[in-house]
Amino acid sequence: MNVPILNLKRQYESIKDELTEAMNSVLEAQNFILGAQVKELETDIAKYTGAKYAIGVGSGTDALLLAMKAAGIGPGDEVITTPFTFVATADTILLTGATPVFVDVDPKTFNMDARLVREAVTEKTRAIVPVHLYGQSVDMDEIMNIARENNLAVIEDVAQAIGGKWNGQGLGSIGTAGCLSFFPSKNLGCFGDGGMIVTNDDKLAEVAGMLRKHGGKDKYNVDILGHNSRLDTLQAAVLIVKLKYLDEWNRGRQQLARAYNDAFDGVEGITTPIKDGRAEHIYHQYTIRTTKRDELQAHLKAEGVGSMVYYPVALHKQKLFNDTARIHGNLTEAERATEEVLSLPIDPLQSEDETAYVIEKVKGF
Ligand SMILES: *Cc1c(COP(=O)(O)O)cnc(C)c1O
Repeated sequence: MNVPILNLKRQYESIKDELTEAMNSVLEAQNFILGAQVKELETDIAKYTGAKYAIGVGSGTDALLLAMKAAGIGPGDEVITTPFTFVATADTILLTGATPVFVDVDPKTFNMDARLVREAVTEKTRAIVPVHLYGQSVDMDEIMNIARENNLAVIEDVAQAIGGKWNGQGLGSIGTAGCLSFFPSKNLGCFGDGGMIVTNDDKLAEVAGMLRKHGGKDKYNVDILGHNSRLDTLQAAVLIVKLKYLDEWNRGRQQLARAYNDAFDGVEGITTPIKDGRAEHIYHQYTIRTTKRDELQAHLKAEGVGSMVYYPVALHKQKLFNDTARIHGNLTEAERATEEVLSLPIDPLQSEDETAYVIEKVKGF
């Protein structure tokens, strides 16, 4: 048997007719740039996350960049974030002209340690970028307390966590702004690049809306230096269809996570994901840790089971950040995580046989 880490083709086949119809309606209308479907999806996503506004942009990366710029972050500022994430979380900080400040992660959740965030604040700090890694919320109570006490913006990186919650509140709607990615492999993925900013802040929404189209309210009379970064109408049409299935898919992921947890509970050498009781975890990834990670991954590969290491190199170990970032304290938990994590197939449409096969092969090792 072969169990890939993700089977997008299967998801596509399951809703192909609806998707084809939605895409055809865009082709018929030829309204490719900021067409009606973009507005419709923005309304849907605002409602879904519990935020007042949603602004469709070209990618999750651009959502981070434009949200930070709209929050006024720029040269001379410091932005506190995690080194255990995808590069986009912090290269966008550099792109604003600000300096990323890395704090270590909590080894239980792999998320930024709020206690260290508090320590890392200086008079240059302007924002915190918490990443809800693998679909589980950061401790947003503490992050929001620190932000209030120090007058900081909070730009949530929700690329992996759409539909996740903290104390019942939708991720993305808690901080100053939330940034979503519709990259094809995300829980809500389109057929290319896409992203969205959600926010309750009137001013930030207005500025972000300008930044995505060159910085003007009026196309031919521009106010500020902006970008060309809009969510395509075609992608919005795809996402409107897929959003209807997102809760069902996320529940499927949670069910698979429970099955894996039950199967691996007490298995020596494997630590299953630890869930914070205040978080609704939507398992973008199901990530175990083991000190024999590379051997386990090779074994699974030989048996036809896909797996991935998110992430093999912490950001502060990457050349880009050598002279551009500040490190607070040490980052040993993040470094240890890069050596021990392994994500297993958690495709909501995977069959019970496939799940049983993955379990058998992990246990077999
Ligand atoms: C995917 C991802 C991004 C970037 O999103 P893109 O849509 O690929 O630009 C940012 N942060 C995290 C944590 C991600 O997983």
